[in-house]
Amino acid sequence: MSRPPSLSSRAEALQPSLTLAISARAKALKLDGRDICSLSAGEPDFGTPHFIVEASIQALRDGLTRYGPAAGDPELREAIARKLSAENGIPTTAAEVMVTNGGKQAIYNLFQILLNPGDEVIIPSPYWLSYPEMARLAQARPVPVPSSAESGFALDLEALEAAITPASRLLVINSPGNPTGRVLTLEELKALAELVRRHPRLLVMADEIYEYLLDDRVTHHSFAAVAPDLKDRCFLVNGFAKGWAMTGWRLGYLSGHASVIQAASALQSQSTSNVCSFAQRGALAAIEGSRTCVQEMAASYNARRRLLTEGLQAMPGITLTPPSGAFYAFPQLPEGCPGSMTFCQTALEQEGLAIVPGGAFGDDRCVRLSCAVSRETITDGLARLARLLPAG
Ligand code: PLP
Repeated sequence: MSRPPSLSSRAEALQPSLTLAISARAKALKLDGRDICSLSAGEPDFGTPHFIVEASIQALRDGLTRYGPAAGDPELREAIARKLSAENGIPTTAAEVMVTNGGKQAIYNLFQILLNPGDEVIIPSPYWLSYPEMARLAQARPVPVPSSAESGFALDLEALEAAITPASRLLVINSPGNPTGRVLTLEELKALAELVRRHPRLLVMADEIYEYLLDDRVTHHSFAAVAPDLKDRCFLVNGFAKGWAMTGWRLGYLSGHASVIQAASALQSQSTSNVCSFAQRGALAAIEGSRTCVQEMAASYNARRRLLTEGLQAMPGITLTPPSGAFYAFPQLPEGCPGSMTFCQTALEQEGLAIVPGGAFGDDRCVRLSCAVSRETITDGLARLARLLPAG
């Protein structure tokens, strides 16, 4: 066999996804007839609400099958700007919004547009696993700043400030957060704003993709609304995947300073052109429609999140920060357990339990479990997990 072509240094440096390795193994075991219980889902278990599907079908029937503007359907950009102004308290115009292929492409575009080689990206840890990889793809250096399960994953503001250097360019915040399900408080956001004010070169990206998936006891605050004076230094990432159960549609958006949006749209025009035109009509129906469907799905995750939380809290040795948003729990394993990758491999081989190693999110003592599965699956998964833990 001939030698494969050598890869670029960028591709060589890219970390293969640990989560994909686990789910590929889970699928292989299932095909072999093993009884697999998966709490590894990173997506809603609902179908997309009907009125959104219908709007997209109608767009197809109306012939909306051609290329569109790179920055997105003008009506959708207007609607997103209205939503951000009215719901999030961030006065926004359509020129400050672009539509992207999922929240993921919004982040990718932003990193490519803002970061130079050697720039540092401050990422509170645990973090969503794509941030460091995307920073590296932009030749920047990810700087994770840890927080711990023992402190409830509260932001360590002193450590964050200590991590800032003249090379620091971007601070990433994600609330409600994946994988911890933690929601940043108003006080934390205000303290972060103070910190950002002290460092004029620092920009902020707020990933708010789980904004609608919230426990009744907490409120979501957008960073740019908490610190209106910093609006020109704030970039907001959001999308339709989680709130409206539209993961496969690939619909997200980026908002921020119009000049950055223009540059990110130019990048998009040279890479993916535009987001699927008729899918954008579905997004328009979603964002302009009633939020009842979103609230009903959120209420269902809340009930299941409670079930998962209570089950984990009852396990001896587990340290859990009760999640109050998104659809994950991120317990720390008891003393004496192996690292998260080994633990998750054993969980899969021994108990047929698919969960995600916390090492992928920057904390090797934790594992991520999803509650976007049936109550029976949660109960079954908890029982399997309990059998893997040292006797308490
Ligand atoms: N941000 C966070 C924190 C996520 O968990 C995800 C997906 O899992 C995304 C962004 C990207 O979402 P999408 O590209 O599906 O819109």
